[in-house]
This record gives sequence, C-alpha cells and structure tokens, in this order.
Amino acid sequence: MTATTAEQTAESHVFEADVARLLHMMVHSVYSDKDVFLRELISNAADACEKLRYEAIAEPGLLASDPDSRILLTLDADGGKLVVEDNGIGMSRDEMIEALGTIARSGTRAFMERIEANRQGEGAQLIGQFGVGFYSCFMVADRVDVVSRKAGAEDAWLWSSDGKGGYSVAPVDAGEAPARGTRITLHLMEDAKSYASRWTVERIVKEQSGHVPVPIKIAETLG
Ligand code: ADP
Ligand code: MG
Repeated sequence: MTATTAEQTAESHVFEADVARLLHMMVHSVYSDKDVFLRELISNAADACEKLRYEAIAEPGLLASDPDSRILLTLDADGGKLVVEDNGIGMSRDEMIEALGTIARSGTRAFMERIEANRQGEGAQLIGQFGVGFYSCFMVADRVDVVSRKAGAEDAWLWSSDGKGGYSVAPVDAGEAPARGTRITLHLMEDAKSYASRWTVERIVKEQSGHVPVPIKIAETLG
C-alpha cells in the first residue's frame, strides 16, 4: 500500500437489490425482539474462530502467537456503542464485499422469498424464525463499522454502512485493526442504547449464546 490515506482510497458500493430490501425491512421493523442481533453477531464470531481452527490444522502458523479463540464484547455506554470482536479467521477485502454486500446464504434467500410471497406483515415474526444473520444489526444501529484482518494477512479493511443504500470499503492502518479477526462496532440508535449496558448484554448472552464454544468476555470502556 502506498502512502495514500484511507479517505482517499475509500470506495463506495451499492447494496445488491435484495440486501437493500432486507435492510429496509430491518430498519423499519416492528419486530420487538431486537435482542437477536447479538446472537447473530456472536454466532458469526464463533463460526470465524471455528474456521480458523480448521484452517490451522494444515497451516499452524495462522494461529501465530495467539492460539486461543475469544470473543470480546466492549460496551461504551457514554459513546452509545457496542463492539463485538473476535480473533477468528477474519475477512479479506473481497470476502467482505461478498459476505456483507450480497445475499449469498440460502437461509436469508428463503426468508426473502417468504416475505415476497406474503405481504401481510408477517415479516416481523419471520425475522425471529429465520435468524437473518449479520444484517439484523441494523435493527439497533444506524451505522455499523466492520474492521477485519484475514489470518496471516498484512492488510486490514474497514467496511462501513448506515444500512441505507450502500457501504464503503477502505484500507485501514495496521494499528487500527485487530492483529487477526474482526471487530464490529455498532453505533446504537437512540432507542437501542441499552445494548451498551452490562446488565442487558449479560442477560442476552446468557439467554441466547450459552452454547457458544468460544469464551465470551465483556468489558466496559470508561468514559
Ligand atoms: P451466515 O452466518 O449464515 O453465513 P450471516 O449473515 O450471519 O450469514 O453472515 C454472512 C457472512 O459474513 C458469513 O458467512 C461470513 O462469511 C461473514 N462474516 C460475518 N461475520 C464475520 C466474522 N465475525 N468473521 C468472519 N466472517 C464473518
Ligand atoms: Mg451468521
């Protein structure tokens, strides 16, 4: 990478039409159980740790000096932010664009088809039934920043979106990214600030992520 700044090299992308529709639904959702977003993010973090362990069988160097999987939830009540970080496999720039800008997974595709087939407002219940993955964080956040570094890679990338029309992708300096894995920062909506409180987050983790095979730590940033 040359000495250009992240701002100069940020690229704007438009969401695939299906993603835009799904996000519109999330943002305008009347679905009351918004807690599910955290289960989805934790499940993705745990999946990323599992993927790394698998890849590391053939390539042990990927674990470098940090062999133990972990998920860290950082609560910033003053800043209205919740950060979910893992030291799993991470994503390259192209993987971010593919994974977070399109609807690749079949479960989400099936969900969209159900929504299209039934416009009677069934959507709210379906969110819980299908578990719509990453995009569910836009039920509680009006901006989501994803910084990721693929295991073994030098370069790290920032994906950022307000969940409306599109997202941007830009390189980030090494010092601003996890040594390996993914850090997701949710800028919480006004009525979702409780997701930066320990009581709420501990309750959801206990209720919904008890089975996760990776240790989950909770920390608070002091304002
Ligand atoms: P699913 O988990 O069913 O594939 P999601 O919508 O939850 O669907 O996530 C979409 C994709 O985004 C994942 O398959 C994965 O490729 C990528 N992804 C999301 N979160 C992470 C993460 N923490 N680390 C690595 N990849 C991730
Ligand atoms: Mg998932």
